Amino acid sequence: MRLEGKVCLITGAASGIGKATTLLFAQEGATAIAGDISKENLDSLVKEAEGLPGKVDPYVLNVTDRDQIKEVVEKVVQKYGRIDVLVNNAGITRDALLVRMKEEDWDAVINVNLKGVFNVTQMVVPYMIKQRNGSIVNVSSVVGIYGNPGQTNYAASKAGVIGMTKTWAKELAGRNIRVNAVAPGFIETPMTEKLPEKAREAALSRIPLGRFGKPEEVAQVILFLASDESSYVTGQVIGIDGGLVI
Ligand code: NAD
Repeated sequence: MRLEGKVCLITGAASGIGKATTLLFAQEGATAIAGDISKENLDSLVKEAEGLPGKVDPYVLNVTDRDQIKEVVEKVVQKYGRIDVLVNNAGITRDALLVRMKEEDWDAVINVNLKGVFNVTQMVVPYMIKQRNGSIVNVSSVVGIYGNPGQTNYAASKAGVIGMTKTWAKELAGRNIRVNAVAPGFIETPMTEKLPEKAREAALSRIPLGRFGKPEEVAQVILFLASDESSYVTGQVIGIDGGLVI
């Protein structure tokens, strides 16, 4: 029960890595506030969480909608009195080679993956400052570290998340708020299901551990960073990639 009594907000909580994280947090005794744009997937998440020691409290939450974020954060603080952990996980892809990338695909990915992290963190941090305690975990990607053809927008957003992580680690350390990032490699989720077979094979041949990762394997690292077990860790980017970026 490594998160017993903690109130944890997870964005993009209804699928893939966010879902595995939310279920693991509830398993570890947390009140997991699950934010996502998909009401349907949130409903099935809540059903899956039945019987776990903690609880999952679902909210329709779009990380690009600042009014909605403010409303949800205020409701959560009214109900539970605090927010101990924030996991900025919501993310999308709109892949295309540079010369073919549409401006709206650039804007959409930057809006969700980069500005979305700024939006939610900016609304949550004042409460963490008041508490003088908090842990923020941002979900970046190996692509933000070493680039990837066809992912100009995504790479820019994920590199930006690393920049914000390090900035906030410095800015908020004095308030006892830790800020870290994870950089997953290829993880089996609906996001990577879309990859063409050729791209999957090419990726697999570059992973020393010889397999893709599971969302639960990312969730375990997020749990470590969220919990007090990582109390002296801040400003770090932890790779979860089977050795891909060595
Ligand atoms: P996923 O598509 O399975 O889940 C993403 C979730 O985010 C969905 O439930 C979706 O509804 C939600 N979402 C999308 N736009 C949103 C918005 N505007 N506001 C709130 N929620 C929104 O994807 P995943 O693979 O679990 O990815 C989760 C995170 O991990 C993303 O940030 C992604 O970039 C990152 N990541 C994934 C991989 C991978 O291989 N799957 C690798 C590195 C990083």
